[in-house]
Amino acid sequence: MSIVIRGATLLPMTDGGRPTGGDLLVTGSRISALGAVDAPADAEVLERPGCYVMPGLVQTHVHLVQTLFRGVAEDLTLLEWLRRRIWPLEAAHDEASIRASARLGILELLLTGTTTILDMGTTRHGDAVAEELVRSGIRARFGQAMMDTGEGAPPSLLETTRASLDASAALHRRWHRAAGGRIGYAYAPRFALSCTRELLEAVAALAKMNDILVHTHTSESAEERGIVERVTGLAPVAYLVETGIASERTVAAHGVHLDDAEVAMLRDTRTAITHCPSSNLKLGSGVADVARLRRSGVLVALGADGAACNNRLDAFEEARLASLLARTLHGQTALTAMDALVVATREGARAMHLEGEIGTLEVGKRADLVVLDPVRLAGPGGDPATRIVFGGGSRGVRDVLVDGTPLVRDGVPLLMDAAEVRAKAAEALRALLGRASLA
Ligand SMILES: [Zn+2]
Repeated sequence: MSIVIRGATLLPMTDGGRPTGGDLLVTGSRISALGAVDAPADAEVLERPGCYVMPGLVQTHVHLVQTLFRGVAEDLTLLEWLRRRIWPLEAAHDEASIRASARLGILELLLTGTTTILDMGTTRHGDAVAEELVRSGIRARFGQAMMDTGEGAPPSLLETTRASLDASAALHRRWHRAAGGRIGYAYAPRFALSCTRELLEAVAALAKMNDILVHTHTSESAEERGIVERVTGLAPVAYLVETGIASERTVAAHGVHLDDAEVAMLRDTRTAITHCPSSNLKLGSGVADVARLRRSGVLVALGADGAACNNRLDAFEEARLASLLARTLHGQTALTAMDALVVATREGARAMHLEGEIGTLEVGKRADLVVLDPVRLAGPGGDPATRIVFGGGSRGVRDVLVDGTPLVRDGVPLLMDAAEVRAKAAEALRALLGRASLA
């Protein structure tokens, strides 16, 4: 099966690759030609004159299970937000509410141009999340959050160290490289304060042995940083290094509060940071210094975090904020619109070790694509990157493909019934709030 996208402006997101006019041919799951394309006679033709075609956006920090919590965990600082709202709500999830939350999140991600995610999950129902990921067509690495300790966490959310490791090992066996490699497993030790040292060390060893990703949080708020220092005697990143968690397989969300030694440790261990600007600003956690990290040689990718702290899952919005915040800290060229799009695509792919498969428009790469209609973006002036990042980004999303499969066409999801997903989510939220005991 072939699809040709005709008459577009292609944003390759390769090193030095400039936007150029042309067509793009998809054969099966991959990009098979770029430029002036001779399409096979039976190819499906999408006439997209003047539209922008770019690699699908990659979000390396998402909580699908929190999509239902949007608007019900407001105006709290990080640790209060977790203890009073998020953990009790996660503890109240059942399989139906997990599925409804994941589907609502994936629908929003696809409609706003995200084609790949790294998801944190919660401590249960990992199989249900995996099934929804497979069914939706999105590309994902997912984990079941690991928590074997944690002040203020509901007992039903906590697990023993052994049970946590066994559950992740089983999910890894069942789901790694599922759906033709589109879905994979990633260990998800939640953060230093919800994991014992024993758990972190075991995860580090298992991830190395099996060569799989580790997804965690670090250095998000000043309060959390202070507690980690008091409990462990080390700065948060130093603790990740000491337990073996910091490595080239690890993606750590936030990195807002880092000293120079920690930045050097991230670089030396090749640990990636996911910048989550909306979440950091909304929870009042602070501003991650992305330009400093990148200048120091730390790989930075982007994520919306969860709907409970953003409250949207729109990667274009995160790219815009990333650029604005970097300019505020370091001036106009600290993170240009094109830089922000590189972070949102190619750098995300690198953080997930998927750079050979996705993140750029190149022949042979997987056809994970977004087509944007510039008529829906603020215009008419500006180069494509500027227009996308500052002109409304996701408003322009017209078509989305993952693995060569169209998932959104003319703004309409093809594999999901949006009205049904939203209705089920509202119903699941009512039941969930009934089960949750919120202080
Ligand atoms: Zn998070």
